[in-house]
Amino acid sequence: MRLFDTHCHFDFDIFQDDFDSQLKSAHEQGVSRFVIPSIGSSNWAKMHQMATDHTDIYYALGMHPYFLDQQSIDELPTLKELLNQRGNQCVAVGECGLDSMVEVDMTLQEKVFIEQVRFATSCQLPLILHCRKTHNRMLQILKQEKFQYGGILHGFSGSYQQAMQFIELGFFIGVGGVITYPRANKTRQAIVRLPIEKLVLETDSPDMPLNGYQGKPNHPKMIGEILSSLASLKGMSKQTIAEIVWKNSNSAFGICE
Ligand SMILES: [Zn+2]
Repeated sequence: MRLFDTHCHFDFDIFQDDFDSQLKSAHEQGVSRFVIPSIGSSNWAKMHQMATDHTDIYYALGMHPYFLDQQSIDELPTLKELLNQRGNQCVAVGECGLDSMVEVDMTLQEKVFIEQVRFATSCQLPLILHCRKTHNRMLQILKQEKFQYGGILHGFSGSYQQAMQFIELGFFIGVGGVITYPRANKTRQAIVRLPIEKLVLETDSPDMPLNGYQGKPNHPKMIGEILSSLASLKGMSKQTIAEIVWKNSNSAFGICE
């Protein structure tokens, strides 16, 4: 079974002391492809290096809304330049989006998000979207910008209708550890109804620990457990789901199988 973690912060310090053994433990659980999204200029060079060292590591370049400050505007030209010079393993722009739960000025968030949507359009790249209580505004911006290269709505939690609005714009839905919690009833019911052809798996490591692992850092090797939860919600075999989401993940990022 081949598994794809479409969203893990595998470049964070917590994994770096013994990165090779961290990677090996993911491989041992069948996780054979990874996409690492950027959080900002601090990790752009690092992930390029990681992808150079490991052919199964792909990455995205972008600015996470949580980490923006006034300097971020000045860094946009560098981001654009790096995207223009990207190699094959840079497969998306992100993670980017809007987050109404953090104390970062919303005007700044929107400005930086809109620029990244435009960069993705000019590079014909998909987007990795971060969205917290901002679904309607993000949909509005994507429509205004006539964005057409799809991508992933990462860390989905919400209603069926919200997910379908992104699917209609060409996005896949990133399913993570939230579905392992029985109390996440709304999200679980949404996932039951969403088309399996539009779902991908992600851990968001080291964040979003699974049910039963609270307080511990999450790890890409946990993808198999998210797969198990998805299989039981969908009433399908793990094998069947694994094959479909593998295809979906590669297709979301334009990676050859
Ligand atoms: Zn993330």
